[in-house]
Amino acid sequence: MSKLTIVIHGGAGTILREHMTPELEAAYLEGLKGGVDAGYAVLEKGGAAINAVKAAIVVMEDNILFNAGKGSVFTKKGVQEMDAAIMNGATLEAGAVAGVRNVRNPIMLATEVMLYSNHVFLSGKGANDFAIKQGVKLEPDEYFFSQFRYDQWKSIRDSDAYALDHTHQRLEELMRDKKFGTVGAVACDYEGNIAAATSTGGMTNKKYGRIGDSPIIGIGTYANNKTCAISCTGHGEPFIRAVAAYDVSCLMEYKGFTLYEAMNTVVNNKLVKLDGEGGMIGVDAQGNHAMILNSAGMYRAYRSSDGGNEVAIYK
Ligand code: ASP
Repeated sequence: MSKLTIVIHGGAGTILREHMTPELEAAYLEGLKGGVDAGYAVLEKGGAAINAVKAAIVVMEDNILFNAGKGSVFTKKGVQEMDAAIMNGATLEAGAVAGVRNVRNPIMLATEVMLYSNHVFLSGKGANDFAIKQGVKLEPDEYFFSQFRYDQWKSIRDSDAYALDHTHQRLEELMRDKKFGTVGAVACDYEGNIAAATSTGGMTNKKYGRIGDSPIIGIGTYANNKTCAISCTGHGEPFIRAVAAYDVSCLMEYKGFTLYEAMNTVVNNKLVKLDGEGGMIGVDAQGNHAMILNSAGMYRAYRSSDGGNEVAIYK
């Protein structure tokens, strides 16, 4: 029997203690705890890792604090276009969606894609049509609205800039108290099966149907029982060029690195060289875990059956 482990993140970036209020910090910690507990409850009942990561993500998508589902960032056109992916390390089955609108829980739609579409990755209107066909819950535009992300978008919508929640210099002042991000989860169940899931609104003011790393299998999300389950967060473009999540898996498979060594190499060496600010969470099939970041902070939490648990924000 493997050690049960669930690890989650809620985004990474220039998250500094001196910019945080006690109320906001408490709200983040509570949001993270809600996500990790939802995932752990599934594992504890003997549930599969794939269901645990989905449960954790749904809770965070429903929480306006995070840039996923409700509270997603605004695109250049002033709407929310969301990306999500899920992967089962036991079977290598995967499902992903990009640029979907009005879907309450994009991770549910990614799961439907994995199980029922005969495809892996659906985008835009086609993905939305599939959501309707599968009866995935939709919500009106207002449901996704958050005032702070609207203000964040207003400050750069007339420029060509696009921004990760926390790293854009011009946004620094505005976003001091408002640093939220993409959500991700990885888990290991009793059987030693592992899974990964990631969900995001992407980056503020993104345009031309921009898709980040999060929904791309092998980049922002990857799971394989032989090696690891990984979910990334940060500036998507460098993560794509680094083939981040699969590179961790390759370092483990072909070079015999441990989970920690492989993640550390990718986050603190390969991504740094590409200016890839952010971090990632990972587990292996023994239930070992790691949470590694090269940015000032990453909202993160884990819980495992050996009694380990941590909820953290800063580096
Ligand atoms: N990686 C996401 C993207 O580039 C953003 C994030 O992690 O907050 O779309």
